[in-house]
Amino acid sequence: MDEFKFIQSIKQSAYRNRQIIKGVGDDAAVFREAYRDVVVAVDTFVENVHFTRQTMDPFHIGYRLLGANLSDMAAMGAEPISYLISIVVPTGWSDEQLKEVYRGLDTIAKAFKVDLIGGDTVSGQQFVLTVTINGAVEQGKARYRHDMRDKDVLFVTGTLGDSAAGLSILQEENNAIAETEYLIKRHRMPTPRVDFARGLLNLPRVALNDVSDGIASEANELAEASNLTVYIEEDAIPLSNPIKQFEKTTQIDYMLNGGEDFELIGAVAPEYWQVVKEIAEETNTSVTQIGTVKDQTNRNGQVYIKRQNGYQQLHSSGYVHRN
Ligand code: ADP
Ligand code: MG
Repeated sequence: MDEFKFIQSIKQSAYRNRQIIKGVGDDAAVFREAYRDVVVAVDTFVENVHFTRQTMDPFHIGYRLLGANLSDMAAMGAEPISYLISIVVPTGWSDEQLKEVYRGLDTIAKAFKVDLIGGDTVSGQQFVLTVTINGAVEQGKARYRHDMRDKDVLFVTGTLGDSAAGLSILQEENNAIAETEYLIKRHRMPTPRVDFARGLLNLPRVALNDVSDGIASEANELAEASNLTVYIEEDAIPLSNPIKQFEKTTQIDYMLNGGEDFELIGAVAPEYWQVVKEIAEETNTSVTQIGTVKDQTNRNGQVYIKRQNGYQQLHSSGYVHRN
């Protein structure tokens, strides 16, 4: 396809955010933020590395990748505003398939009121899609991993492990599962928790991280960044009903290491936990306490998980160290 025509075809007819001064159509895009801190993130999706065409349609590739970027904005407490696309198109791809990628992008973009303001199109050997996202947060209100404190309540949104369970179904590893639709949708079309994170804006402090690699990894990142000890109660980790059809050990593996759930894991002072629960309700998000944060010099930077025989160290790989 003619590149100029293609760009015209994906160009939005109007922008959803008044901050956009120049979107697609010049050498670069321009947007204005007068008083807020600008928050930027980038994510790349490579065919056969991060996804396969067996498990993702072109529509889902776009939807899922922008979903991951929106989740990064949520984890920073930022309002997402605009995004740019860099795409490497291999010769085997049809115009229709390419348009489907953009339809996936625009479907979630519309839902979260973000604008496509530019990109780059090149041909190459392998399909690669890179999304850069721009957002903004009220000055000094970005939510960092290093902001946990002693005695904080540790919480997660939603349920964990669904995306990994959905992927296993798509890879035909589990044929005896009912309610596959729900799990597959959780894999292909994640729900970034932007509204919930924005709802927390007035809290003086909250530490946040999004669950892209699995909570074993994310909880370790929080513990390391804050130099505190995280205690998780395995039985408290929220699971959806469909995932309970899997064997117990598989459920635990998916919930701790599955990743790509794009839920949020965070920590707040106990006196604000009630407020967090109210904000969750107002934004149609479920939130669950899964543990606590402690300051214990000889264990700081580490995560412990409570099982039948007491607390054991949980490494970021998901490996549980048995005493
Ligand atoms: P330049 O040569 O200045 O890089 P391009 O022809 O690459 O210009 O791009 C023209 C306009 O179209 C720019 O606004 C650019 O951001 C946008 N654009 C190019 N490719 C894409 C794409 N794949 N998705 C979205 N916008 C794109
Ligand atoms: Mg260019």
